[in-house]
Amino acid sequence: MRLVNTTPVLDEKKCIGCVICSSVCPTLAWSVNRETKLAVLDEPLCFGCVNCEARCPTYAIKMVPRKNEKLLYVDPLQVDYAQVEDLCRRARFHPEQIICFCTSSRAEEAAAAILTGSLTPEDISARTGIRSGCTIECSQPLLRLLETAGIPFRPALDGKGWQIYGKVPTLWEIPHSVKQKYANRGFHFEEDQALMEEVIASPAQPPGSRTLNVTAPKAEEAMALAGRTAG
Ligand code: SF4
Ligand code: SF4
Repeated sequence: MRLVNTTPVLDEKKCIGCVICSSVCPTLAWSVNRETKLAVLDEPLCFGCVNCEARCPTYAIKMVPRKNEKLLYVDPLQVDYAQVEDLCRRARFHPEQIICFCTSSRAEEAAAAILTGSLTPEDISARTGIRSGCTIECSQPLLRLLETAGIPFRPALDGKGWQIYGKVPTLWEIPHSVKQKYANRGFHFEEDQALMEEVIASPAQPPGSRTLNVTAPKAEEAMALAGRTAG
């Protein structure tokens, strides 16, 4: 989920058509016109990540407040939640697991985006806001969910592929020989995998039926925690 409240504006006098903005935009909102050699924005695709402003070498792009803020969110309840759960768990995520810390987006939201027609990371990003921050934690989960849904990876080499590097091996894909080789060097592959499988298999609650399972500390305990004496 992301509230988009800024949008980029181009200063054409400064643009040199270097295509850096179109290369770093997670939603493919920028392209460069071959004839004018100027960047062109498909504004509705922009989710305000500021990558283009930060990377433009001539400072031709400036983020400004949007006239109308827009909220990006795909509600997992618009599809059968059992399907959402199934896709998440097969991709080795718990449905409630946060896969994008910058936007607090859970695996279930990305799965719901895929199940409602998003077939590329760019389209998932444009609908959910995922990848509008660091783009480090969220990229691999998106690739795993898409692959699990039967959508093959498309390298960006031909200019038409995904704006994302390929998938890296998960704990489940690292060969046994490699695990053995590094077992005595501070890695705990088997223990980590067992723990992850326990988490992935644990029950999930659909959004809307969740309750915070927090026990309020008694007054004395709260005071003790605060370093004071209850009285
Ligand atoms: S990165 Fe900047 S200079 Fe390069 S094409 Fe985009 S707007 Fe123009
Ligand atoms: S702010 Fe982000 S999403 Fe918007 S055009 Fe720039 S790079 Fe693309």
